[in-house]
Amino acid sequence: MSHRPDSSPYRFLIRDFARSPGAQRTVSETFPAPAVLGTVMVGVPEGAEIRLDASLEAVSEGIWVSGTVAAEAVGECGRCLDEVRFDVAAPVQGLFVFDQSQVGDEEGESEDVFEFDGETLDLEEVVRDAVVLQLPFTPLCRPDCPGLCDQCGARLEDDPDHAHEVIDPRWSALTSLTEQEES
Ligand SMILES: [Zn+2]
Ligand SMILES: [Zn+2]
Repeated sequence: MSHRPDSSPYRFLIRDFARSPGAQRTVSETFPAPAVLGTVMVGVPEGAEIRLDASLEAVSEGIWVSGTVAAEAVGECGRCLDEVRFDVAAPVQGLFVFDQSQVGDEEGESEDVFEFDGETLDLEEVVRDAVVLQLPFTPLCRPDCPGLCDQCGARLEDDPDHAHEVIDPRWSALTSLTEQEES
């Protein structure tokens, strides 16, 4: 299988077997992430490695792609804001058809159906969707991360007994009085 020169590494020239139902090829390649896959909170950074292991099978409507995609996602813990890195492994699948109108919406499962020209298979969207679906909405550095103190922002993990003295309301009234006098 050859890459089309000067274009996305996600594109494969498959002219040679696209119209031979039953033919099969495997793809085992590492690509750079095309752009940030994910959100500001969590995602696979642009240029990070994405590993794709898939099989391409020529079927009568086009090419059926199925396999797995793996990458390392980077995010920020939703509680303590520490950097979080974790592996993402996702199933990938899609049907690339020569003519989408022939497939129709028979089963309403059009999300995994893509149209292609019969020569170039562009796997970027399939890979992107697979990775993004696996990302947690709010990543955590660990399930029981205690987060930050809501008063001073200190990391509660470093200081589990962390507490603030609660000022007696009478004293706080006095404090604000002094502050007023000072200003
Ligand atoms: Zn955390
Ligand atoms: Zn505090």
